[in-house]
Amino acid sequence: MSDAQDLLLDMIAALPDPVFILTESGRYAAILGGHDRQYYHDGSHLVDFTLQDVLPGDKANWFLQEIRTTLQQNRLRILEYSLAGRDVDGLPTDSGPAGELWFEGRIQPLPNLINGERAVVWVASNITERHKLQGKLQALSETDELTGICNRRKLLAELTQHFNQFQRYGTPLALMIFDIDYFKRINDEHGHLFGDQVLYELAQQCHTQLRSADILGRFGGEEFALVLPNTELESALTLAQRLRQHCQQQVFNGPKGCAQITISIGISTASTSDGNITDLLRRADDGLYRAKHAGRNCVRHRPCETGSAPTMLL
Ligand code: GH3
Ligand code: MG
Ligand code: MG
Repeated sequence: MSDAQDLLLDMIAALPDPVFILTESGRYAAILGGHDRQYYHDGSHLVDFTLQDVLPGDKANWFLQEIRTTLQQNRLRILEYSLAGRDVDGLPTDSGPAGELWFEGRIQPLPNLINGERAVVWVASNITERHKLQGKLQALSETDELTGICNRRKLLAELTQHFNQFQRYGTPLALMIFDIDYFKRINDEHGHLFGDQVLYELAQQCHTQLRSADILGRFGGEEFALVLPNTELESALTLAQRLRQHCQQQVFNGPKGCAQITISIGISTASTSDGNITDLLRRADDGLYRAKHAGRNCVRHRPCETGSAPTMLL
């Protein structure tokens, strides 16, 4: 073999990421590179097996579909997907990293036929660390730092998503905005740090009253919002009263003694006349405004019909 051929073979063997030659029917025609066992398992035994032989049905179908789409579109495609060593039959799991791994797949149609079949080159880069970091960053960007619940951005995104569901399928949706009454006094009497502690504990206490599907967020300052998917007005009003009473019963212990708080709540429900979430937010906010003006520690629902009186509830 010539020096040039030797060099080429060495280069192929030293490719940092595994390169799979996969035919249209799902056969592993060749596997090259990816020998660092810190990042990749040893898949050399897979050659001449098919995706269907070694992967669970749904995963095999996913890979097959992506191969076909790439051949059809005849261009480079880049995808992210997860796969664990244990998902692949016969793979020596201790030959590579444990647990679920994330990959970036770069798939390019091959110009030549392999045993009469069209095929692709599939380069699989292990991006697990990057994926984990992205997950952490995403969680941080959606979390209120003080209370650990959703921040305003995430809450509005959730509200938008559930409002779209309402518009598409008519799934009922309620929104609550609530604000601590005379919170300034708590800060003035007990200090800002204690105020922070109250905000934190209140958020945890509210969670004990909610279903797992309800989405609680800090809207800003001492104002919270609650998205209630699949919830009719009557249930929302019942929950609001329960929440209000629960908050009133809490005793917050601090260095200067204990404190209690009350909250005022505004409620709105999605209506077909709502153009977007701003309408829903405006009505809940209006309910809150009315609850404050009615003396606080109460609940007000603002119906969407203009001019109709708000529901009065204590
Ligand atoms: P109202 O019943 O009308 O809501 O009275 P309030 O005193 O709660 O309302 P106001 O808007 O006058 O004051 C809100 C207070 O909330 C003032 C501000 O210092 C306090 N606050 C807002 N964000 C935070 C926070 O993150 N930590 C603490 N400790 N206090 C906060
Ligand atoms: Mg307040
Ligand atoms: Mg406020």
